Amino acid sequence: MKKRISLALLTLSSLALYATPPAVVAHRGYWNTEGSAQNSIRSLVKADSIGCEYTEFDVWLTSDNVPVVNHDDVIDGMVIQNTPYHEVAKARLSNGEPVPRLDQFLDTAAPLKVGLVLELKPHADPVKEVLAAGMIARMIAERDLEPRTMYITFSANALKALQATTGQKAAYLSAVSPEELVALDCYGPDFNIGSLRQFPQWIDEFRSLGMPLNVWTVDSDDDIQWCIDNGATYITTNNPLRAQELIASGK
Ligand code: MG
Repeated sequence: MKKRISLALLTLSSLALYATPPAVVAHRGYWNTEGSAQNSIRSLVKADSIGCEYTEFDVWLTSDNVPVVNHDDVIDGMVIQNTPYHEVAKARLSNGEPVPRLDQFLDTAAPLKVGLVLELKPHADPVKEVLAAGMIARMIAERDLEPRTMYITFSANALKALQATTGQKAAYLSAVSPEELVALDCYGPDFNIGSLRQFPQWIDEFRSLGMPLNVWTVDSDDDIQWCIDNGATYITTNNPLRAQELIASGK
């Protein structure tokens, strides 16, 4: 009986602790639906249309320093960072759209409600990352998108550059310990779900450090529920509708 009461108290205190449910981040936009494609303008509009709190997308700089939105480093056999924009512009996404330029993407985002999770990809030349960070900061500021934008990256160099140019803390995608994140003086972790489930003891450490917990890419019901139960702040998923459903069912 005593055990049951303490379990009930534990559950209640957990519920109080996680009173704010996770926000849903559509990974590369809401793309697995009619007429959409990963990192397309359509996927951004679709993420907004289903009420996602955020949509995530990836940014590369072309060889002539035009920021474009794409996940892979290669499109139609062209390595984006080694190819001029006029060549990259000839490529088509699976829904027929051209690769969006970042300015086009942000112009579309500006009148919408959805938040932006901007990932700056690691470039071979670190100078390009610094240049990209400066351009990104300016383009976001020109559209007054700062309050709706978060920055993430796998590159420690890009992280530093983004933080310097935007004046905002960025989240680090590589699975490093809480101590290493503190040393980076960043927003916090953006952890792969597999790594986080390997080091669940870090969750309390992140929390005590006041770091929000971003987790990617959380697609199965089991992983989504695990993130909800462990108080994730953001769930980045290819299944935003299912994540919304599971979060709503626990409210
Ligand atoms: Mg990404």
